[in-house]
Amino acid sequence: MSQPTVAVIGAGWAGCATAVELARTGAQVTLYEAARVPGGRARRINYQGNTLDNGQHILLGAYRDTLQLMRTVGLQPSQLLMRLPLQMRYPISENGMDLLALRLPAPLHLALGVLRAKGLSLADKLSIARFASAARWMGWQLNRDCPVSELLERFEQTDRLIKLMWRPLCIAALNTPPERASAKVFLAVLRDSLGASRAASDMLLPRANLSALFPDAAIAWLQKHGGKVMLGTRVSAINAGDGYWKINTEQRIDHSQHIVISTSAAHAQTLLLEIDDALADTLNFEYEAITTCYLQYAPTVHLPAPMLALIDDPDSQRWGQFVFDRGQLDHKQSGLLAVVISASGTATESGAQALEQSVAQQLANDLQMPELATPLWGKAITEKRATFACVPDLQRPRHATAHRGLWLAGDYTESEYPATIEGAVRSGMKVAAAIRAKARAEAKAKAK
Ligand SMILES: Cc1cc2nc3c(=O)[nH]c(=O)nc-3n(C[C@H](O)[C@H](O)[C@H](O)COP(=O)(O)OP(=O)(O)OC[C@H]3O[C@@H](n4cnc5c(N)ncnc54)[C@H](O)[C@@H]3O)c2cc1C
Repeated sequence: MSQPTVAVIGAGWAGCATAVELARTGAQVTLYEAARVPGGRARRINYQGNTLDNGQHILLGAYRDTLQLMRTVGLQPSQLLMRLPLQMRYPISENGMDLLALRLPAPLHLALGVLRAKGLSLADKLSIARFASAARWMGWQLNRDCPVSELLERFEQTDRLIKLMWRPLCIAALNTPPERASAKVFLAVLRDSLGASRAASDMLLPRANLSALFPDAAIAWLQKHGGKVMLGTRVSAINAGDGYWKINTEQRIDHSQHIVISTSAAHAQTLLLEIDDALADTLNFEYEAITTCYLQYAPTVHLPAPMLALIDDPDSQRWGQFVFDRGQLDHKQSGLLAVVISASGTATESGAQALEQSVAQQLANDLQMPELATPLWGKAITEKRATFACVPDLQRPRHATAHRGLWLAGDYTESEYPATIEGAVRSGMKVAAAIRAKARAEAKAKAK
């Protein structure tokens, strides 16, 4: 059987997954990436000689396909990711809560973790138990989608638990506030975290920069296994030929039997407009921003844990939702804190510098560490179109299109997951499997 030729556009996590998975089974793959650094919305950046990420990320033990692909390209996830038990820990002074799953088999790991949690009343703990048993009974599924806030009301969750756990979890996972976020997608995320095995519920914090976590190795692996990789090469247009596709870049025109558009939805729209404006129209999403505020202190500065939750309150200019002590993840980053603000549209209105100052002040107050008010330097990075707004009943496009050989991969394509690394990787794996199946069927038909 002759192997299909495939052009993969975009070396984000979806594109890298598609390309590796196809090349692994013999396809002739060319991967085009507009930027010089692979990784897309989960990539390394350089800021004044410091290697940072475009945004602090967190993975879950449930990211099965991502972890598997990391191994395929020769990486060891256990070396590159710090594995923490599921947790929601606030600094003591916050009057928050301290919930830490135990190293026990599920569901005991969480049940006993909740029982031992500090800062929660009996009513709050019963409220979690009520949520978990109702969600389990429903198979973590809903017939009719609704906002997360409605689901929380239906499950009679206490105000304190909503404030300290459900709201921050919803914003972190779906990058959409509970009043507008899809309860169906939220339940799917909880099924694979709160409701899953202990290992699946673990939180995985990157010890290396995000490009080094998979995309760099994926590219090296592809080159070693016969794939072509063209970094710094933007595809400006695609056109259908007779049984093949033309891929236009500034330098050349290539031909391929299949094209996988694995850019963000907005960039895919631009490429599709010339071919199929109705399909391009289905890629109209609303977006939510995410800001990561990096604050560098003296290398001796450490937090009590690698990751802590913070109580945000926009009315009093408290924007930070989670803080990560990068120095505990990578000793070369000692003293570097990364504060995450999801759904950060309003937070960025008064400018990056004002935001850095208020976040530093918030850290100093909440952690009772006055020295945190005056970092050596700060850098707030905002990805304006970080993810699509994950609202109820959102229609997401399928991977296969009506055009022979034209496929879509990316975190926005049909999936029960929100926009995540695992969603992106799974989309790439699915497209690769579909192309393989198509090639097999065509070879069979030809042989008859
Ligand atoms: C700040 C931030 C924090 C996040 N936090 C988390 C988290 O904690 N956990 C989690 O799982 N997910 C998180 N996400 C979401 C996650 O990063 C994305 O869902 C995922 O990276 C999307 O990957 P993708 O491959 O689908 O798309 P992208 O990453 O957008 O990749 C598309 C690629 O296509 C390239 N491209 C575009 N147009 C062209 C063209 N014409 N020619 C060639 N190349 C082109 C782009 O340069 C890009 O590299 C976060 C996202 C952001 C921005």
